[in-house]
Amino acid sequence: MKTILLTGGGGFIGSSLANRILQSRSERLIVLDALTYAGKEPAVSDTGRLEFWHGDVRNGELVESLVARSDVVVHMAAETHVTRSIFDDKLFFETDVLGTQVVANAVVRHQDRIERFIHVSTSEVYGNALSDAMDEDHPLNPMSPYASAKCGADRLVFSYWSTYGIPAVIVRPFNNFGPRQHLEKAVPRFITSCLLGEPITIHGDGSAARDWLFVEDHCDALEAVMDADLSQVAGEVFNLGTGQHRTIGEVAGLVRAAIPAAADLQAEYLSDRPGQVSRHTCDATKARRILGWTPRTSFEDGLDRTIAWYRDNSDWWDSMRWMRHIPIVTSDGKREMH
Ligand code: NAD
Repeated sequence: MKTILLTGGGGFIGSSLANRILQSRSERLIVLDALTYAGKEPAVSDTGRLEFWHGDVRNGELVESLVARSDVVVHMAAETHVTRSIFDDKLFFETDVLGTQVVANAVVRHQDRIERFIHVSTSEVYGNALSDAMDEDHPLNPMSPYASAKCGADRLVFSYWSTYGIPAVIVRPFNNFGPRQHLEKAVPRFITSCLLGEPITIHGDGSAARDWLFVEDHCDALEAVMDADLSQVAGEVFNLGTGQHRTIGEVAGLVRAAIPAAADLQAEYLSDRPGQVSRHTCDATKARRILGWTPRTSFEDGLDRTIAWYRDNSDWWDSMRWMRHIPIVTSDGKREMH
């Protein structure tokens, strides 16, 4: 039986991937997660194939001992919230860049065993869209500390492929949404505010647009990368997105329309977040061509499923209500809760 090491498996995307691996695949799964404010121990039915390690990706000895027992490494442990990276940037570089260096180094040392090293990067590395749809050759212009830390990690992994020949594959997912996403992120913040009968807060005028990818479609893509012929994917970067964008204002409107308790709630507009990206639209032609991947979930279906999950699981999120907002200095110099 093969073993997959998943870092960050206690987070939003990692917990979906952990469930997927345990429910529909046959590998043994090791999850390594520091259980920061953003992580929870995976709540999965025990198949006898899951081993959970509460630990830090910056701990070289621990990471090496886990990589040594693995065939596939999926690395997604990171600090992930753009606004929080403006409030407190240092940890982003320590975790996202140095943590990735530790994992990549362990992969180099155990190259004889590791069949694939999948690094989860982000579309944030691109900054503002300079073309209608952004392909993998779009310039890298990260616009926030989070984005630049992830960009450093992304290029670090590429350089380890180029220098040491490790079997690295980099994916750049666009904005994910779905169940179990932390309340600090826009979609769950909108949904829970509406369920609580509180006004939605929007950064800027709501015209910033993103390509919204349902988390299960992202997991499909990660499975496709695990199963692809290595010669087709090693050293490659794959964008993962739908090719369509929606503004933050539109998303807020759709959430409000779907929750009866929110019908009379007005949106509150805040100053813009510094380093705000105005638009991201994915060109995922390469993933379609090489991985045979295409997202299956429409935005409306994904949103309905996400709203239903938050409605039914308030126990999961109730204690993190206070973390929906973070104090930052905005682009016009005001201190605001974002
Ligand atoms: P998340 O914040 O929900 O989860 C991150 C997980 O990493 C948490 O469980 C946390 O405890 C863990 N972690 C943090 N620091 C750690 C450390 N030092 N050692 C071990 N574990 C640590 O994030 P997410 O939204 O699930 O994102 C997962 C990955 O996908 C990240 O690499 C992120 O950059 C990337 N990504 C996310 C999105 C998105 O829209 N959510 C989009 C593109 C890329």
